[in-house]
Amino acid sequence: MRLPIAGQQDWSADPHGMAYDNPQFWDGAHLESELHRVFEICNGCRLCFNLCPSFDVLFRRIDELDPHREEAEGKHIEGGKIIEEHEAAELLKHVTVSTENPVNLLHDEDKHRVVELCYECKLCFPKCPYVPPHEFAVDFPKLMLRAKLIGAKEEGIAPRERFLGATDLVGSVMTRVAPLANAAAHNAFNRMLMDRTIGIAKDRQLPAYAEETFATWWSRRAPVAGGETPVALFATCYVNYNDPTIGKAAVDVLEKAGCEVEYPEQVCCGMPKMDGGDLEGARKLARRNVETLLPAVRAGGKIVTPGPSCTLMLRTEYPELVPGPEGREVADAVMDLSDFVLQQARAKKLPKPPAGAVGKVAYHVACHNRVQNFGYRGRDLLKWAGGDVTLVDRCCGMDGTWGMKSEFFADSLKVAEGAARRVESAEPEVVSSDCPLAGLQLKQKTGRTSYHPVRILSAAYGGEPLRSPRKGT
Ligand code: SF4
Ligand code: SF4
Repeated sequence: MRLPIAGQQDWSADPHGMAYDNPQFWDGAHLESELHRVFEICNGCRLCFNLCPSFDVLFRRIDELDPHREEAEGKHIEGGKIIEEHEAAELLKHVTVSTENPVNLLHDEDKHRVVELCYECKLCFPKCPYVPPHEFAVDFPKLMLRAKLIGAKEEGIAPRERFLGATDLVGSVMTRVAPLANAAAHNAFNRMLMDRTIGIAKDRQLPAYAEETFATWWSRRAPVAGGETPVALFATCYVNYNDPTIGKAAVDVLEKAGCEVEYPEQVCCGMPKMDGGDLEGARKLARRNVETLLPAVRAGGKIVTPGPSCTLMLRTEYPELVPGPEGREVADAVMDLSDFVLQQARAKKLPKPPAGAVGKVAYHVACHNRVQNFGYRGRDLLKWAGGDVTLVDRCCGMDGTWGMKSEFFADSLKVAEGAARRVESAEPEVVSSDCPLAGLQLKQKTGRTSYHPVRILSAAYGGEPLRSPRKGT
């Protein structure tokens, strides 16, 4: 099947040039004016002042450069000294007041810093009152992504971004030599080399590779038929190459909930490529997935996926990356795994696990779950299963591969401090997050292993036990 390619379109409905296929999207001068326009709106608003390092730098630099800052703060400075109000009033009679907009004073390096510090958590989007269709049409995360994509187009995609974006290639090689690859990830000399050559932080705990991929496990599993609800599992690269126990738990729980599970051929969702500036690479993967997932959707099934970032990518980016009805059809059928299982549970299709089997849980809600606005389903699922759940609703600062990069590693750990404190103060027996990379960050900060809610549920039914239950380490 051939999917349609974006053709000539009327772009008058996209005056700010924010659609990937709008030629204006790639125009550097237009991007500059757009950054200026949006930074001015944000400066007037400042609702996101404490969300992330990107806004912190933006507002701090504007304040540092603002010629009227001291006046606005009620201070009057003359010759470096704060002076009295009546003296200031006298002086101001002889002064020409500059009306320079402080956003005009931002240097290129300031703007570059704001862009590179955005780790695409997307939390500012649902918070913003000016997102489209508001006439201001502010889409801050996409504007930051646009700047990165234009940068990559002009300067080329950096080797590190190519490496981090090649999840299927790297995963299939590493799983073949998993014991060696995992030992190398703990070797100090090797990590120093990785830090200096490709810029992966030497102290970042990396995910281990599995000796058997989820795909291999699935291929040798005897088919189970008879479920009344068809679902197709989009397992994600992390589950396939790093932690197949999440995929096995998903299959276990879905089958207990009366589902007939299918695992169609699939490739990476494309988010790591897009984050690294390779839009065309991401689009190729999206086209491939739309082709292979569409038959399951047309057969009436949902596509369920255990990775919040991958779910977000499939649901929100695929309609634009794969224009036409097919991309939209697949996107509309995608559901977060915890959300889907909870629906089945509430429809009484899933038996409750034995009382006390889940225990005391600190559940971290991933940013990419929050922005999808379907509620805190992982938490609710664990509560439904009898867990005593404390919500940890702070960004963990990992955000895909951003927190792995040498230059952002320290910032990433700093962002995670609030989340780690909340985990510790909950004194949990088990830590949980739908996002495995957030789990990795929480492990780095607290020493406690984190599990997907469905993995905890499967263990509560008597499935594969958690590696260190009750101690959290
Ligand atoms: S997407 Fe996240 S990191 Fe980027 S600007 Fe918004 S809140 Fe900050
Ligand atoms: S992104 Fe929206 S909510 Fe956040 S500071 Fe800018 S205008 Fe305000």
